[in-house]
Amino acid sequence: MTDLTGLRAIVTGGASGIGLATARLLAARGAGVAVFDLNPSDVPPPLQALTADVTDDASVRAAVGDAVERLGGLDVLVNNAGIGAIGTVEDNPDEQWHQVLDVNVLGIVRTSRAALPHLRNSDHAAIVNTCSIGATAGLPQRALYCASKGAVLSLTLAMAADHVREGIRVNCVNPGTADTPWVGRLLDAADDPEAERAALNARQPMGRLVTADEVAAAIAYLASPAAASVTGTALAVDGGMQGL
Ligand code: NAD
Repeated sequence: MTDLTGLRAIVTGGASGIGLATARLLAARGAGVAVFDLNPSDVPPPLQALTADVTDDASVRAAVGDAVERLGGLDVLVNNAGIGAIGTVEDNPDEQWHQVLDVNVLGIVRTSRAALPHLRNSDHAAIVNTCSIGATAGLPQRALYCASKGAVLSLTLAMAADHVREGIRVNCVNPGTADTPWVGRLLDAADDPEAERAALNARQPMGRLVTADEVAAAIAYLASPAAASVTGTALAVDGGMQGL
């Protein structure tokens, strides 16, 4: 297990699912962790809960400043906040496209922009973006979501190239369907949630969903000094769905 003692990290969308699992794991391995979320009141100590909306530049800037002050610097940024959308290109109106791209893509841009000046002062600077197999696999009824995650993948590669000579690594993880409150909400909306869950599990090559802890472990690796030569890559944690 990689020791992260002394590292200081921000996890966006860290109050739920993959983000919360990641924040907990980073803290368990010794890192100081600030969680950014819309309403992070339930986030337990030692995690530092900060209210931040990644669609609001001023909110992000203030939260990054607050986190850096509380943690004494910044080494790791996990850009994980994200929202979904169901439908084909005929279903989602322009307004919804703007909304999802604002969170999933521009949210990374805003948070990274605010964090980069601080990351430049770190000896172990790393950014990890939560992407999706939807970036590389054509998932039905997910045109907008896949497009947003395709942009996250391209953004990850471009940022890796831009910042490698500054000693800042940039990678992403591409989860398959992960068992988080997000997926729980989708299942709850079905006529028969239990039958829907069984069908969803059966569609997975491993017969089960990926867990949030498994995605968190991949993020922790990419954030850690153990991955010191790894930048500009996408690590699939997809239970064999082979989105790449
Ligand atoms: P989740 O809904 O459980 O958690 C997402 C968190 O992001 C929530 O706490 C939410 O409040 C926060 N968030 C949303 N909008 C925000 C904003 N504007 N500012 C700050 N925080 C905001 O979802 P999850 O399943 O844990 O997903 C986390 C990430 O993983 C997302 O980027 C998602 O696209 C990605 N992902 C999820 C799956 C999956 O199957 N669950 C698969 C692939 C990728």
